[in-house]
Amino acid sequence: MRCPRCGKETNVLVEGVCPDCYIEREKISLKKKVVHLCPRCGRIKVGKDWKSIGSIGEFISSNLKTKINEPKVKVEKVEIEKDRLHVLFVVYGMLGGKHVSKEVDTTIKIIREVCPSCLAPDSFDFKLQFRGDYQKPLDEALRIVDRYKLEKKREGIDLLVRDKKAARDIVKSLRKKFNFEIKESYKLVGEDVHSGRKRYKATFLLRFK
Ligand SMILES: [Zn+2]
Ligand SMILES: [Zn+2]
Repeated sequence: MRCPRCGKETNVLVEGVCPDCYIEREKISLKKKVVHLCPRCGRIKVGKDWKSIGSIGEFISSNLKTKINEPKVKVEKVEIEKDRLHVLFVVYGMLGGKHVSKEVDTTIKIIREVCPSCLAPDSFDFKLQFRGDYQKPLDEALRIVDRYKLEKKREGIDLLVRDKKAARDIVKSLRKKFNFEIKESYKLVGEDVHSGRKRYKATFLLRFK
């Protein structure tokens, strides 16, 4: 049979026209035009999970109104403007036994909501033990880090920081000015249920000469 719109030979008609003509006319939209975004870490809510903004394609594909079977989404561009997410994407898949694709431009409203991981109280899982002639190096370390705890010990001072990056930044910066030996030890303490990230408690023993 022939498509009454474009006149091409086709095996199937979708709402009276061939798959190509149908997809050209179809207004592909989202069932839910709202996304929750955490203002602290920038992650978005996809289903029950909080994921990076890179997962916006996943959010869109699970949320499409289209006749395409098992539609796949390729995100071309994402822009955040105030309370809106502007997304340009391509939807592709099968329709009436044919491969079809279409470019879609859409805006999604942003609702800012602090995610559960960011709501969790501060934890100070990285411990830097300052030993030996440590006073100057410690002063230097405290200039770099913004959130920390100090614990006075008989042999020196323990500096507790929140994450690996803070700990690494301190060690890197101290290396430039001071001479010391370092011993690292790690202990697995759990896994973040939201991000799937493993949590470690780490101890860096720094002995200054
Ligand atoms: Zn047609
Ligand atoms: Zn967050």
